[in-house]
Amino acid sequence: MRVGIGSDVHPIEAGRPCWMVGLHFPDADGCAGHSDGDVAVHALCDALLSAAGLGDVGAVFGVGRPEWAGVGGAAMLTEVRRLLIEEGWSVGNAAVQVIGNRPKIGPRRAEAQKVLSELLDAPVSVSGTTTDGLGLTGRGEGVAAIATCLLTANTECPRS
Ligand code: MG
Repeated sequence: MRVGIGSDVHPIEAGRPCWMVGLHFPDADGCAGHSDGDVAVHALCDALLSAAGLGDVGAVFGVGRPEWAGVGGAAMLTEVRRLLIEEGWSVGNAAVQVIGNRPKIGPRRAEAQKVLSELLDAPVSVSGTTTDGLGLTGRGEGVAAIATCLLTANTECPRS
């Protein structure tokens, strides 16, 4: 078994569609970025890649890989899961926390957990918190996310 950790922060861009935890939030501004700006999915991808020793989101989907520009969270998680399977890993479970004022995660937690769990074929827990007005997330300038996961080896000797 291997654990992994991932985090991400993006600035909020007024008027940009808000994608977070794999869902579209029509009542919030989205995050700027090379992809759809879903920091929760980015943190999850980083956690999964780190657990498998496969690097990070920047290496797999970053600006050096223009074919992934504008990529959505579902496609990113599907690709990361494909890479994990290729290396002999299954996802045991994962957890992600969104840190920011908006969007509000709680009312759509069950929906987000269902979407992310289906994409990874494993239980994914989703939570949200604020920083009580402190820092860039508290001022509403950006949204952060942190994630962790557990991978289990499908084979006796996974490659990494
Ligand atoms: Mg990111």
